[in-house]
Amino acid sequence: MGKFNIKFWGIRGSYPTPGDKFIKYGGNTTCLEIETEHSVLIFDAGTGIINLGKKLINEDKFKNINLFFTHTHKDHTEGFSSFIPAYSGKYRINIYGAKFFDLGIKEVISNSMTYTSFPISFDEMSSLKFAVDIMETDIIIKKVENDLPIVYNKFHSNYTSNENDIVIKVLRGYNHPKNGIIVYRIEHLGKSVVFATDVESYSGTDKKLIEFSKNADILIHDAAYNEETYLKKQGWGHSTPRMAALNAKDANVNKLYLTHYDPEDTEDDIDQKLIEAKKIFKNSYLAYENLEVSLI
Ligand SMILES: [Zn+2]
Ligand SMILES: [Zn+2]
Repeated sequence: MGKFNIKFWGIRGSYPTPGDKFIKYGGNTTCLEIETEHSVLIFDAGTGIINLGKKLINEDKFKNINLFFTHTHKDHTEGFSSFIPAYSGKYRINIYGAKFFDLGIKEVISNSMTYTSFPISFDEMSSLKFAVDIMETDIIIKKVENDLPIVYNKFHSNYTSNENDIVIKVLRGYNHPKNGIIVYRIEHLGKSVVFATDVESYSGTDKKLIEFSKNADILIHDAAYNEETYLKKQGWGHSTPRMAALNAKDANVNKLYLTHYDPEDTEDDIDQKLIEAKKIFKNSYLAYENLEVSLI
């Protein structure tokens, strides 16, 4: 029957928000886990990845950990230096991300762990690490029989895939300052999830994102602002629940999950975001820390 589960380990944007006021939805920054029968995939290494790392060590199920970055802002990378599997020689961390400002993903993560800010460098972490810069023209395929996902050029490589593979598609968006983000579409066993965090939609919806998300089972979409705060933060690279819902509706997805809440958002603010989204797209839900969703 197979397995295709997603779990939210961090749903906040900008910075972590510990404290009583943030218990219901959680205060860790962005991290999403996808687990299938044979593989684990992680999207972003905000502080949510710290608890995920402990779980991976305790369960001891996967030796190959596949880590995909949407982009390298702090709220998507700051947990990596505390990701315990990276310190164990038993694990192999396969890292994927775009080049940002001509710096490869390995350089950017390494630069976040130099001695002035952290005592252990990226290369000193004991895990085997492997990093690849990916582009929109790439497609990544993880076959059950291969330990590693393989990156193919969509136009120039010969590749085949079937429903048992995990297929990861890449959309490069530039609607997030200053060098854009990657939106990922993950397909497995006939089901699909699109992870669109740190995206700012356009007036009249984001046509590229809609095309990329067409008929997905789940669209996870940035909803950092409400209509009022957006007016002050236009161009900051985030969306409102209304924008997320309009994209979900036009893409004909099955379910929409709102995420990347503003760190100032109270529980009431987040509840209100769901009300706004549901006015446009009925099948809207709120992501919260530790929420698990099964696609099979
Ligand atoms: Zn962010
Ligand atoms: Zn960002």
